[in-house]
Amino acid sequence: MNASTKALIQQIVAHVTCAVCGHHFATSDIQVVGQREHIWAMRIHCRECRTQALLLAVVNDRGTQPIYTDLAPDEWKRFKDAAPIAADDVIAIHEYLQVYEGDFTDILEDPLPDE
Ligand SMILES: [Zn+2]
Repeated sequence: MNASTKALIQQIVAHVTCAVCGHHFATSDIQVVGQREHIWAMRIHCRECRTQALLLAVVNDRGTQPIYTDLAPDEWKRFKDAAPIAADDVIAIHEYLQVYEGDFTDILEDPLPDE
């Protein structure tokens, strides 16, 4: 693990808590599973409630913005070889999810509704 990866994980530990129970993570609970340009994908595991989640971190000159996804950690594999994603795409997904009431798996399996 290089220094920037270590620093990133430490930032996540300092700022992100479990989405389910609010437990704080330790560095050993976080594993980087992929990186595309300035977006890092991390598998996080909560020792308190045993939730596993995929967290994306957008790293740019304004800092690190962690984004929770509702994806299972293994689902990153489906995306990492897909077309390049930009930070704006991730933010758009994040905003969409905030208003989306349904089960996230519906989004992945069905086409997005027309605008
Ligand atoms: Zn938890």
